[in-house]
Amino acid sequence: MSTSTDVDLVDYDDAVARFDPVIGIEVHVELGTRTKMFDGAEQTFGEEPNTHVTPVSLGLPGALPAVNGTAVEYAIRIGLALNCSIAESCRFARKNYFYPDVPKNFQTSQYDEPIAHDGWVDVELADGTTFRVEIERAHMEEDAGKNTHVGGATGRIHGAEYSLVDYNRAGVPLVEIVTRPITGAGARAPEVARAYVQTLRDLFRALGVSEARMERGNVRADVNVSLRPTPESPLGTRTETKNVNSFRSVERSVRYEISRQAAVLDAGAAVVQETRHWHEDTGSTTSGRVKSDAEDYRYFPEPDLVPIVPDRAWVEEIRAALPELPAARRRRLQGEWGYADAEMRDVVNAGAVELIEATVAAGAGPAAARKWWMGELARTAKQQDVELADLPITPAQIGALQQLVDSGRINDKLARQVLEGVLAGEGDPEHVVVARGLEVVSDDGPLLEAIDAALAAQPDIAEKIRSGNLGPVGAIIGAVMKATRGQADAGRVRELVLERVQA
Ligand code: ADP
Ligand code: MG
Repeated sequence: MSTSTDVDLVDYDDAVARFDPVIGIEVHVELGTRTKMFDGAEQTFGEEPNTHVTPVSLGLPGALPAVNGTAVEYAIRIGLALNCSIAESCRFARKNYFYPDVPKNFQTSQYDEPIAHDGWVDVELADGTTFRVEIERAHMEEDAGKNTHVGGATGRIHGAEYSLVDYNRAGVPLVEIVTRPITGAGARAPEVARAYVQTLRDLFRALGVSEARMERGNVRADVNVSLRPTPESPLGTRTETKNVNSFRSVERSVRYEISRQAAVLDAGAAVVQETRHWHEDTGSTTSGRVKSDAEDYRYFPEPDLVPIVPDRAWVEEIRAALPELPAARRRRLQGEWGYADAEMRDVVNAGAVELIEATVAAGAGPAAARKWWMGELARTAKQQDVELADLPITPAQIGALQQLVDSGRINDKLARQVLEGVLAGEGDPEHVVVARGLEVVSDDGPLLEAIDAALAAQPDIAEKIRSGNLGPVGAIIGAVMKATRGQADAGRVRELVLERVQA
C-alpha cells in the first residue's frame, strides 16, 4: 500500500485543547426507487455489468431525460423530515466534468436551486444529550457508474493496467444533504459526526426512501474538517475526506484529521484545501486532489428538463403522511416499555430497539425482552464479534422462549439451556425443550424419589433437619436439583423436603 502514516500527529486530547474543530458533512443517499432518476432503466445491485442501461444512462446523442416523480417525492420527504423549506420552484443543472463513469461528461445535479433548504436535525449522543445540526440544503442528483481499476496494488487508477466501467449505477437517484459548518462540538466533533450520519441513516429507513445499507454504499459521507485557534476565530481551511462508508470510519476519520491538521498548524504550515482518501486499514487519510472550485464545473441550467414546481397541496399531503420519526418513536417505546433513560440509551446504542419491539410483539414482557437481548445475547454477540441482529435467533423465538418461562414449563436456568440449543441450530424453543427433555418436573413422584435418595445419602443432614435445624436444607435441595438436571422447581422441592422429614 502507498498509504503512509509517517506524518506526525498531535495527541487528540492535546489537539482539541488547543484548537476548535469545525466539521461539515455531505451525505449522499441512493433512493430506493424502482427505476433510475431520468430514465426507465431498473435500479439493481450486484448484477451483470451494463445490463441495466438505456440511451439516457449511457448519454447517447439525442437521448432525452425525464424526471422520476417518485424520486422527487422521496426528496421532499427527506427535506420535510429535516425541517427544511421546500422550494416553490427549482431546476436541475449540469455539473460538467470528464470522467469515464459519467458518460455524458456532466452530472445532472442541482446547484443554486436545491429542492430543500434551511433545515435542522437533532442528533442524540451516547450520553443522552442532544446536539442540533443545521442543514444548508438537500438536493437531487444522479449517481455515477462504477470504475474498477485492475492490476494495481491499491485498486486506484494509479498503477492500474486497465480500467473497467459499469453503468448499471449511472443515473440512480441520489439526494445529497449538506450541513452548515457544525461549530460548538469541541472534543465531541468525531462523535457528533458519527451520530449525525447514523441519525440520517435511521431517518432514511423510517421514511422508506432507501434501504440505507452502508455496506452497499447506499449511504456515503464526505467529511469536512477544519481547525481554528478559538471558537471566536474565523473558520480555518478545511479538508474533505471522501466516501467514508461506515459510522465508525466517520468518527475515526474526523479524529485523525483533527490530529493531523493540528500537527500541520503546529509546524507553522498551512492546511491545504483538498480532498482526502480514508484508509480503513491504517485509520488514516492521504491527500487526494486539490479541491476544484464551483466555477471549474461550469454549472449551467439543464436545458432538457423543465423546472420542478411542487404543488403546495402535494407537499402538505406528503408532510401529513410522514411516518413517526425515529426520535419520537424511541420516546414512545421507552414510555410503553417503562425503561429508565439509561436502560433505553443502552438499548439504542446496542441497536436492539427493533429486536425488542419484535420480541414484545411475540409475547414477551418488555423487561424480559430487554434482559435477553442486553444480557445473554449481547454477551454471545460480543464473543462471536457479530451484531445482535446477526445472531442465529429471531425475536419470535425469544418471545416463545419467554412464554415457556412465564407458563412455568421451564425455569430461568433451563431457559438458558434452551437458548443455547436454539443458537446451536437445534430448532425452535418448543422443539429444543422436547428434544433435550428440559421441562420442569412438576409431578411430585419423581421429586419425592430424588428427595428420599438425597436424605438417605446424607443421614447426618437429614437428622439435623428432623431435629428442627433448617440450615442445611439447601444441601438436600441442591442434591435434588442435580439429580433432576435442574428441572425441578426449587420452591416445591423445599416444601416436599419439609413434609418428608415431618412425616
Ligand atoms: P463542496 O462543493 O466543496 O463539496 P459543499 O458546500 O457541498 O462544498 O460542502 C462543504 C461542506 O463543508 C459543508 O457541509 C460545509 O458546511 C462545510 N464547511 C464549509 N467550510 C468549512 C470549514 N471551514 N470547516 C469545516 N467545514 C466546512
Ligand atoms: Mg459537495
